[in-house]
Amino acid sequence: MLIEIDKYAGFCFGVTQAIQKAETLLNNKIKFYCIGEIVHNKKEAQRLENLGMIKIEKSDIEEIKNSAFLIRAHGEPPETYLKASKNNNKIYDATCPVVIKLQQKIKNVFIQNPEANIIIFGKAGHPEVNGLMGQTNNKAIVVGNSREIEDLKLSNNVILFSQTTSDYFEYQNLITLVENKLKEIYGKDYILQVNQTICPSVKNRIPGLKDFCSKYDIIIFVSDYSSSNGKSLFEICKAEKPGKTFFITSPNDIQKEWLKNIKSIGITGATSTPLWLMEEVKNSIKKIVND
Ligand code: SF4
Repeated sequence: MLIEIDKYAGFCFGVTQAIQKAETLLNNKIKFYCIGEIVHNKKEAQRLENLGMIKIEKSDIEEIKNSAFLIRAHGEPPETYLKASKNNNKIYDATCPVVIKLQQKIKNVFIQNPEANIIIFGKAGHPEVNGLMGQTNNKAIVVGNSREIEDLKLSNNVILFSQTTSDYFEYQNLITLVENKLKEIYGKDYILQVNQTICPSVKNRIPGLKDFCSKYDIIIFVSDYSSSNGKSLFEICKAEKPGKTFFITSPNDIQKEWLKNIKSIGITGATSTPLWLMEEVKNSIKKIVND
């Protein structure tokens, strides 16, 4: 049986950097509270919590005094920084540089275009989207899928952004729908500014992922239900290998019947899936096959 891990899978640089920041604090014995999940992978977050990182919810921030917070890779809105810096607390910021750049861009666009409809294509309530919304005093509109555009009342000045880990193809579809709708309502009298803000670490995985899927009898996709890029990259694998692509969050999810009458297995994952977890999955598969 051939069992291989996708060489392009594993942490992106933003996730790597956030985890390194947490590990440095832990190694230096600095007590800190991570606001929410550091990255969207419970297994990796749990590993860091076992080493001493303390996860809290946003609602707990004001109870912490004379201590330190870590801002997760997805970033936070400005109000979180304000709350966290009170009570003599220090902030260590592990926001991914790509997300910081997007936050700044949205903030500038909002200041310069107060009348425009700023639309963010992403998942409402996702930490990154909350952070982006915060740059506009929550005045931007979050759209979760292209169908939602039909019900929106649009002005003749629209500025589009996407969450960094949204589905690339659905975003392109949404851009076309918005443009068609504006043309229908305003003829030529509209402004549409499109910002291609899906992270290259996600977008650039797509061609290689399709190629990877084509090489194996089945694909095991390791991720977490909370990961947006996990969801979109899994959909790409599923489209390449319908009925033969399986989503798991841990080795315990592997089902023996998936492994019957096949000769090869490809293991891949999201940009927040740790390599050690994919190795564990590989070892579990080997064990099941050899039993
Ligand atoms: S996917 Fe991109 S934006 Fe998200 S953490 Fe990784 S590098 Fe940053």
